[in-house]
Amino acid sequence: MSPPSDLVVLGGGVMGRFTAYHAAERGARVVILERGRVGDPMTASYGRTRSFRNDYLDTGYALLAHEAFRLWGEFEARTGAEVLVRCGAMNIARRSVTPDFAGTYAEMSHAVLQEAGLETQSLDGDEVRRRFPFLDADLGRLDVDAGVVNLPAVTETLTRVLGERGVQTLEGVETTAVERDGDLLRVITDGGEFVTRSLVDIWLRQSHVHLGHERLRRLEQLFPAHRVQVRSAGLWRYYLFWGDVPSQGANASQ
Ligand SMILES: Cc1cc2nc3c(=O)[nH]c(=O)nc-3n(C[C@H](O)[C@H](O)[C@H](O)COP(=O)(O)OP(=O)(O)OC[C@H]3O[C@@H](n4cnc5c(N)ncnc54)[C@H](O)[C@@H]3O)c2cc1C
Repeated sequence: MSPPSDLVVLGGGVMGRFTAYHAAERGARVVILERGRVGDPMTASYGRTRSFRNDYLDTGYALLAHEAFRLWGEFEARTGAEVLVRCGAMNIARRSVTPDFAGTYAEMSHAVLQEAGLETQSLDGDEVRRRFPFLDADLGRLDVDAGVVNLPAVTETLTRVLGERGVQTLEGVETTAVERDGDLLRVITDGGEFVTRSLVDIWLRQSHVHLGHERLRRLEQLFPAHRVQVRSAGLWRYYLFWGDVPSQGANASQ
């Protein structure tokens, strides 16, 4: 059996791979175990594009998204790759459709951006039509530090840099259990066992939805976890970190 790694990451989507990227930067020996294949368009992280935006209705979430934007920029600077299209994102409204502008997503998210001190522009109808002649709207609220993520560029760049950082990625490996072994963790898969000092379970929040609270509670009893909760659009999302794992690397902004 190979010597213990510092970190096993379960799930080779953008979250798992960025966790590996940041951990490897700090000198950790990292193994990613992916059930399917990296880059499968059936997973959330792959396809052509995703938007990155800060225009949420929760100030904390907007600031978290902006922190992700900063990390994307750092990633581009370090890898020499261009993965973001910085075109901004604009919410628009028409009085004939929504007479009460104060209740529109455009207006409410604009107020959050202002409160968070993030860059935003207010456009009245004339300004919208002058700058964007193809739009017919009476109000525009521009989230300036926004745009789209070029997913193939992200996937390709991550594959390159994770290889350079010595991160081992194993595809087609299904994890069935995690057991404690003294100070170590034993990750049991259909491709054998992996011993590690720490574990990041990226897919658990999805399993959590499918398998319910009971499994989450059992896992948390087994392994004291640092839990980060993010609330967005009325939904809680969970990120669990076990062991001494750097908690950076969240690059998706939705
Ligand atoms: C259609 C769609 C549109 C979206 N649009 C946006 C957007 O515009 N902007 C934005 O910021 N976000 C958007 N999101 C959300 C964003 O894509 C996700 O939040 C992000 O990609 C999640 O990344 P992830 O790595 O956690 O998940 P995934 O990419 O799903 O990765 C999880 C990985 O874990 C693997 N896995 C699962 N179970 C196991 C197991 N037992 N063992 C090992 N591996 C396992 C899976 O095969 C998968 O590769 C969108 C999502 C979808 C689906």
